[in-house]
Amino acid sequence: YSKSFYGPIRQLMLDVLDSYENALASSKRIVAVLETDRQANETGDELDVREGRIEYDRVDFGYESSDEQQLTDVSFTAEPGSLVGIVGPTGAGKSTITKLLFRFYEADEGAVTVDGQDVTDMSPRSLREHLGYVSQDPFLFYGTIRQNIGYAVDDPDDDEIEHAARLAGAHEFVTGLDDGYDTQVGERGESLSGGQRQRIAIARALLREPEILVLDEATSHVDNETERQIQESIDALAGERTTLAIAHRLSTVRNADRIVVVDDGRVVEQGSHEELLERDGLYADLWRVQVGDTDAVSEAFLQRARA
Ligand code: ADP
Repeated sequence: YSKSFYGPIRQLMLDVLDSYENALASSKRIVAVLETDRQANETGDELDVREGRIEYDRVDFGYESSDEQQLTDVSFTAEPGSLVGIVGPTGAGKSTITKLLFRFYEADEGAVTVDGQDVTDMSPRSLREHLGYVSQDPFLFYGTIRQNIGYAVDDPDDDEIEHAARLAGAHEFVTGLDDGYDTQVGERGESLSGGQRQRIAIARALLREPEILVLDEATSHVDNETERQIQESIDALAGERTTLAIAHRLSTVRNADRIVVVDDGRVVEQGSHEELLERDGLYADLWRVQVGDTDAVSEAFLQRARA
């Protein structure tokens, strides 16, 4: 695990991890693997991120293996440095939306742009360079926490690693482990919770200083304290870089600048937490369910839930 060993193979490892995480993150793992040869190739221009504005403009998309269209007329904007939460029921199309940003797949209609540059013109390699991605179930290799956070950059020093870990909300639990940053994790190592592994992956992504970060929040059950820490780390990520966060717990993105509510492949509402509660639509129902105020949930929502 010396640095000279890491240097040359780092990009290779990144690519392997990217595709591994991409496959893992998919709800249809086998389909994802079978479809790899149909995915976008590696050619394209170099992305030039000036401000970090992401724009989805009337995007339609259907997986080739599926008869249905998974995204219809999806439009929203993430302003530079803002935090945008993407929420909605399972299967609504949240992760499909973020896959288009990395050009894992390409829109059938409409466009996804970063600072006005259509991502379908950009090389996937340059997209991965500027856009960080943290999957729901990040992969930790067998090694120390320090190595797991640091492997993606050249010669990181301990201060940089600790700084990234603090930003990611990982420092506290890491220093609580017997061996701290030297704790062995991954297969055969110390077993960490889904939320902890994800915070290590966030630190890993932040160390690369991507201008844009996409986070698919861990679905695993977490206690209230962990939930608060995840919310804090998501809040801390925004500001410096544009962040898209797919959230399964609405509470973790309640402070987002904008929340995009997706249902059945369409953006059905968007706005701040307060605006969406005021609107009293799908978001307000989802919120009431999460806070346990089920009496106030609309009849339309209950009928859907029963169906
Ligand atoms: P969410 O992230 O909101 O749970 P997804 O974007 O994962 O939703 O999925 C949206 C829809 O697309 C679902 O119906 C899902 O089954 C389908 N889907 C996801 N990935 C693939 C794929 N690789 N091939 C075909 N259909 C897919």
